[in-house]
Amino acid sequence: MPLEDTDTDARTPYQLPFPQDALQEIVIPKAIPDDERVWVPQAENVAFRPLCLNRSQGYWMNLLRVRKSGVLSRHRHPQAVHGLVLRGRWHYLEHDWVAEEGGYVFEAPGETHTLVVPDDVDEMITMFQVNGVMLYVDPYGKTMSYEDVFTKIDMCRAHYEKVGLGADYVDQFVR
Ligand code: FE
Repeated sequence: MPLEDTDTDARTPYQLPFPQDALQEIVIPKAIPDDERVWVPQAENVAFRPLCLNRSQGYWMNLLRVRKSGVLSRHRHPQAVHGLVLRGRWHYLEHDWVAEEGGYVFEAPGETHTLVVPDDVDEMITMFQVNGVMLYVDPYGKTMSYEDVFTKIDMCRAHYEKVGLGADYVDQFVR
């Protein structure tokens, strides 16, 4: 006997509840915010804007904004990174390509590279999805410091408290 065709109208929404344990979606209408306080400073003229701080899977999705030229950092990625350049451009000392506005970059696990913003770029904004940990290293790979989703959450919490948004402002980005 053929199955009854219940899918007769493409505009019928899904009719069942979502899984009981599913997390809530995150919707951010303005990823590049109007409120400067949403940007979390991480060095002079360097700030990030959290989008999804995924503590359950150990990754973070954020916008990185750099308003200075020169070397930003040398770092190693044990896991993959995805980047989408929204404004400006940048490159790595270890590669001859340039990440241009509108461009996408896959940074492969095992990469160690040194991010440079060219002199003629006033501002670069790149959306990065970073998995696991970022290790800041010396030229020979010795780890000097690191960041992970938990250090990111801590930075957000401290900053949002300080600027009056409240420490729990970060909660909306945490999953
Ligand atoms: Fe990188």
